[in-house]
Amino acid sequence: MTTLDIAHENRDAAPVGTAPRAKPSLVGLTRPQLMEALKDFGLPEKHLRMRAGQIWNGIYNRGLTRFDGMTTLSKELRENLGQAFDISRLEIVTEQKSVDGTRKWLLRLPSPIPGVPGPEIETVYIPEEGRGTLCVSSQVGCTLTCTFCHTGTQKLVRNLTAGEIVGQVLIARDALGEWPDGGRNSEDRLITNIVLMGMGEPLYNFDNVRDALEVISDGEGISLSKRRITLSTSGVVPMIEKAGEEIGCMLAISLHAVNDETRNKLVPLNKKYPIRELLDACRNYPGVSNARRITFEYVMLKGVNDGMEDAKELVRLLKGIPAKINLIPFNPWPGSPYECSDWEQIEKFADFVNRAGYASPVRTPRGRDIMAACGQLKSETVKKRASERFREAQTEA
Ligand code: SAH
Ligand code: SF4
Repeated sequence: MTTLDIAHENRDAAPVGTAPRAKPSLVGLTRPQLMEALKDFGLPEKHLRMRAGQIWNGIYNRGLTRFDGMTTLSKELRENLGQAFDISRLEIVTEQKSVDGTRKWLLRLPSPIPGVPGPEIETVYIPEEGRGTLCVSSQVGCTLTCTFCHTGTQKLVRNLTAGEIVGQVLIARDALGEWPDGGRNSEDRLITNIVLMGMGEPLYNFDNVRDALEVISDGEGISLSKRRITLSTSGVVPMIEKAGEEIGCMLAISLHAVNDETRNKLVPLNKKYPIRELLDACRNYPGVSNARRITFEYVMLKGVNDGMEDAKELVRLLKGIPAKINLIPFNPWPGSPYECSDWEQIEKFADFVNRAGYASPVRTPRGRDIMAACGQLKSETVKKRASERFREAQTEA
């Protein structure tokens, strides 16, 4: 396995990741929130819009991590802002690069308790011909317990703030050298798409996800259109319509099974919101059309959901919904209770679905060697906790 493992010293973060963030961060605030923060800080009303624009430009177009570089502001203002606010990055614990070019960052969030390392999250970049997708996390861990998902074995530690969601994009831009100031213009972007398919259930962190996507899609900043941002949900039905109305990004549904009995086992949330209700919410998703299809994700599990009768039922269920189907070969993780379907079976399944009129690319697993593929993300905090438990058990014995 040729994995590149680079431990980074972050430019601005506290050295060992045990310090709480001392000052409030301006990263991830929407424009109105930023103006509000500047107003509370004491800037005169008539300057608020302009100052917010200058700071916005510094953070999202120039990638600045300190106020020093914001030379459109007076030296005194830069110093005062620097004393009151933070615009530094999250701490990078490790950066790994897969043989296939996939990159994964393990990031540490500020510590809630001084002296104790903060929780960790993962972000993955997947380069492909003509596009580059950044897969971001929305929570540390997940409250849901899908039985095929590694993240699901990790308890929820907390929701990410909007700044921590946006912060993942900023770190990827740093690493890829994507800042327009670095000579790259918007036509040759490296991050062309963002998917909320990392750790966590984005619809259980609705407000922060909404605000973060507002910032990311702002035309005078990172400027990534909401049509290039896909939110993946395991099926939090009551929040789906709200997402369409208030966020308006593309939607992906983790379907994975075509009957409630199987889906109850794979995605236990199905007991609360069964397939019928979920598909009704999809039919009513604001803005859905043939040009804006909903993606249905379907993880291929050997002998569980991969029969031809499942393929037929899938096509029947999705009738009338503008849909794309993404077949995902199951990515195993240590101790996972399933096996990936045989390749032949995946192809047969895909053929059937294709013939029924659905473009259904089989998503080639990317970054498996660095555990960066779908469903393999789980942060070190938990692994460390497990080893701590082991040591404790030994001491007790
Ligand atoms: N919580 C959200 C988003 C994160 S999961 C959701 O469930 O949709 C992103 C995608 O990876 C989901 O479709 C999820 O079902 C899938 N996934 C999880 N574990 C996987 C695994 N081991 N192999 C392949 N895909 C997996
Ligand atoms: Fe959570 Fe999504 Fe994993 Fe289910 S598949 S446990 S919702 S991250």
